Amino acid sequence: MKELVDKLHETRKLEKKEWVQLIQNRNDKLDEYIFEKARNEREQYYGNQVYIRGLIEFTNYCKNDCYYCGIRRSNKRAERYHLTENQILDCCDIGYELGFRTFVLQGGEDRSYTDETLVHIIESMKTLYPDCAVTLSIGERSHESYRAYFDAGADRYLLRHETANANHYRKLHPEELTLEHRMQCLADLKQIGYQTGCGFMVGSPYQTAETLADDMVFIQNFQPHMVGIGPFIPHHQTPFAEKEGGSVELTLTLLGLIRIMIPNILLPATTALGTLHPRGRERGMAAGANVVMPNLSPVDVRKKYLLYDNKICTGDEAAESLQHLKETMKAIGYEVVTSRGDFICKE
Ligand code: SAH
Repeated sequence: MKELVDKLHETRKLEKKEWVQLIQNRNDKLDEYIFEKARNEREQYYGNQVYIRGLIEFTNYCKNDCYYCGIRRSNKRAERYHLTENQILDCCDIGYELGFRTFVLQGGEDRSYTDETLVHIIESMKTLYPDCAVTLSIGERSHESYRAYFDAGADRYLLRHETANANHYRKLHPEELTLEHRMQCLADLKQIGYQTGCGFMVGSPYQTAETLADDMVFIQNFQPHMVGIGPFIPHHQTPFAEKEGGSVELTLTLLGLIRIMIPNILLPATTALGTLHPRGRERGMAAGANVVMPNLSPVDVRKKYLLYDNKICTGDEAAESLQHLKETMKAIGYEVVTSRGDFICKE
């Protein structure tokens, strides 16, 4: 299997069948080989720096009904909230003081935020914090809407493709959501000029080595600026309540492989990874990640933004958890920096 890792390192791509082989044959010994290569690649662009993003979960209203997600519209027991512009700006204020220079607005697909409202929020953020990047993670909208947010100053957009395999996509989402439309959105975002992120859950129900290979081939063709992956974790009030969760080990392997595939990529060690393993985020860094996204949402709403069970940091104060993150990162040789943390181009 080492030959396949070497080939990936040299050519930055593999055939689908080679991805299948690599994924099926992952093991701890091979992981060491992958992680070492991945760390070397990361170092060339990002050194030992950890980029942080202040995550503002601004709404848990959602018009969609994804089978895996705790804030799907059919979950009548989810306690819904959304933040006003002022509440969002308060989060930024706290975050800025702490050293965050990227704010991520993430939420369910809440149409009560019209384009006009969102444009206003983005403009206010960029006016008050001109040295900060704004990332959006608000799902599928039209090309015109994406353009309006970009013109208002939004810099980046995260839209996980969830799975690049159409049959698999059908098993995770109701009819009204299509892979085709999701992919169109990603193409639009990149074309408009956003630093664009795709991604998927590791171990989502019905995922196979084949569908994962489709994900890896999609990523190597799409060439995103960011990739968000984390283990699937069941939520007890969803149709997937009884499904098995994803594995920390496979998530780490895939993080390493993605780093080798696109050496300058922005790659977060996600909260879901930290939820399944007490040292998940540190292990993510050791596998090749270079970004962490601490929670900046007001503490009283955090327990309501539950995409999955047992999510970590829902009770912590932002300052305290950042301090803790800095210490744990320092202990393994990394430095959390105060910087926008933009994608570094190869040339
Ligand atoms: N509505 C936005 C944001 C979605 S939440 C959008 O559509 O992009 C961000 C990500 O959380 C999702 O893309 C999904 O991959 C992940 N997620 C949702 N439910 C999850 C679960 N049960 N376990 C792990 N990750 C989950």
